[in-house]
Formats: sequence, structure tokens, C-alpha cells
Amino acid sequence: MASKGLKFIVVDATGAPGVEIANEEIFKQGIEKVRKALTAHDVTKPGGALNSYGTDVLINIINEAGGLPQRNFSSGQDERAANISGEAKAEAIKKNGGVRPHACSPGCIIRCSEVWTKPGGKDPVGVLEYESVWALGCNCGIYDLETVGELNRACNDLGTDTIETGDTIAVAMEGGLIEFGAKDDALKLMDEIRNKTPLGRILVNGCVFTGKAFGVTRVPAVKGQGFPAYDPRPIKGIGVTYATTPMGADHTAGYAIAPEIMGVGGKADPRDPKKAELSRNLQLATAVIDSSGYCLFIAFAILDIPEGLEGVVESVNGVLGTSLTVNDIPIIGKQIIDTELAFNKAAGFTSIHDRLPEFFYEEKLEPTNEVFNVPDDELDKVF
Ligand code: SF4
Repeated sequence: MASKGLKFIVVDATGAPGVEIANEEIFKQGIEKVRKALTAHDVTKPGGALNSYGTDVLINIINEAGGLPQRNFSSGQDERAANISGEAKAEAIKKNGGVRPHACSPGCIIRCSEVWTKPGGKDPVGVLEYESVWALGCNCGIYDLETVGELNRACNDLGTDTIETGDTIAVAMEGGLIEFGAKDDALKLMDEIRNKTPLGRILVNGCVFTGKAFGVTRVPAVKGQGFPAYDPRPIKGIGVTYATTPMGADHTAGYAIAPEIMGVGGKADPRDPKKAELSRNLQLATAVIDSSGYCLFIAFAILDIPEGLEGVVESVNGVLGTSLTVNDIPIIGKQIIDTELAFNKAAGFTSIHDRLPEFFYEEKLEPTNEVFNVPDDELDKVF
């Protein structure tokens, strides 16, 4: 499709039959329980964390925890991160004439989304997510939202993933191609991709490929996928998920940050390296939520409020006419993950691919001075 210049497909629901619902009563009962949980939980309720500041609310929180990677994972904290925080962004959106909050999907109660613009409402960009702001911002030593917005806009135009692009620019910076913090030069790298120059063709292949091209060994990736916005040295559970999820380094696959940092879904000590069980349970539950069609952000509420979780299962039963219970969630999650693991095995992946890059085990991260000290057998215990 890309080679034919196809940019998008519009699906027009006019006259379509809609979704068949096997049991309307059970479905409505289920979604009412989900609605109640979402409107009660501090993270998801109207005026709550996600609704007020979007996912970027995490910048200050993870920076405070010393786990916000700076300049290609060379430090876990920087006071300038406040400039690109969710709080600073919400102010700038108000001033510049953007939109916040906004629902990216009709009927969403949480409404974490937004429209970022330049002053005067110009050049709108879809939501500047926490991950994107981190990847294109502090991971590249860039601490202003205007530049992050421009880089994000370029990624959207070109169809490149913001996390992978940020990791790639940071690795290129580490390799000496441009300096950390060089905003204009970073934007020029996006032009290289746009113009399909030889350099652009290297960069667009991602951080692992770029690391090889420039002789950089400090490349944050698992199974070829660049790391998201949490350093696994001071927050070990998320590192266990990066290492073991069949997806490659994917924070959403088992979001251990919830219990380790936010106290959501229980509490876990972020420094405790025994995290196989926590990561596994989260990965199984996430596989089910992702398959249900619900936005993953409902997880914050339903991990804490049992009726919300029941509501998710009931709404699925209402649509499908099944009689699943909450106890079926880990069983179905395991079936999904087993399918993914079987795919990976057939593609040649083994347990040696369930490891983080060496420098996370060897280099201490400031300011916590932690390394990733989760033993291999703990990683192998996950699945
Ligand atoms: S559907 Fe999910 S991502 Fe979209 S606005 Fe709602 S909570 Fe945010």
C-alpha cells in the first residue's frame, strides 16, 4: 500500500448492520459497572490524572523516581524534564489554542487525548503522548515542547513510530552524528527520512540498525524493538516485561509501572528483582484486555475496583453470548501468549533473546546507582 502512495482508508459505517449483541441486558449491566469504575478511580475519572494532563502526566512522576531515561539511557533524572511535563503541556495547549481533553474514540469516558498546536492553533498534531514526549524529548536531550511537537508531527506525516524514532535519533546522537540536544539537527534527520536519502534509509530502519551503522553498542532494544520511557534499572518489573514479552521491549504488554510506581493494582517495591510473577500476571491480563477491544487505559480502574473487572467480563459475555468469569482471564491470557510464543519459537527466538542489552547490567544509572540485577532464571520463570 505504501508503494502505491495509499495514505489512509475511510470506513463509512452508514447503513452497516452494527455489532450483534447476544444479550443486551448482560451487556448493559457490564458496561455500567465499567463506567462506574472509570468515573470513580483517580487515574481515569473526569478531572483525574489522565483527563487533566494526558499520559504525559508521567514525566514528573517517573523523573522523580529516577527512572526517566535521559540522553540515550545515560541518566534517570533531569530537572529540565519539568519543561515537557503533562502539566506544562496542558498550560501550553490552553495558551496556543489546542484542545484538551479530547476523546480519541467516540464514547470514551477517560478522554486522555488532546490536540497539540503551534501558537494560534496552527499545525495541529495528534496527542503528544508521554512516550513520544520522552522519546523525542529528554531521551534526545531536548527539553522544549515546541521541538517535540515538530518531531512528533514529522513522525505522524512519515508514519514512523515515535518511540522507535526517538530511540533511533538518540542512538545516532550517541554515535556522534549530531549532538544531544541539537534540536534543529534532529529535525533535519527527519528530513533525511522524508527525502529517502542514504542516511534517511539507515535511520528509518530503527535503533538497532542505526546502532550497527554507527558502531554504537549502547542500543536500548529487545528483539529488535526500541525501549519505551522507563529505565529498567531502578524499576525492575517493567524490565522483566521488556525482556520477556513476545512483542519485544513493550511497556504496554505488562505495565508493571502501575504497582511499582503508581500503587495501582497493588503495591510492589520497584527495586525488588523478584518480578517474574508480577510481570506474568500483568501480561496475561493485558492480552485479554487488548483482545476485548477496550482501550488499555481502563486497566488502571479495573485493577483496583473488582466490580469494574467483572463488568468487562460481563460486557464481553453480553456481546458474544458466552458465560466467562473473571477466573477465565488468566487462562485465556495464557492461550493468547502461548500462540505468540509459538510464533516466536518458529521464527527462531530462544531464551537468549529474553534478555536486556548488556549495558543495563553493567552501567549504574544516576541518581539511584542501580543496575538491572534480575537474574536470568527469574526471567526464564515468566513463561
Ligand atoms: S480511548 Fe483510550 S487513548 Fe483514547 S482518549 Fe480514551 S482513554 Fe485515551
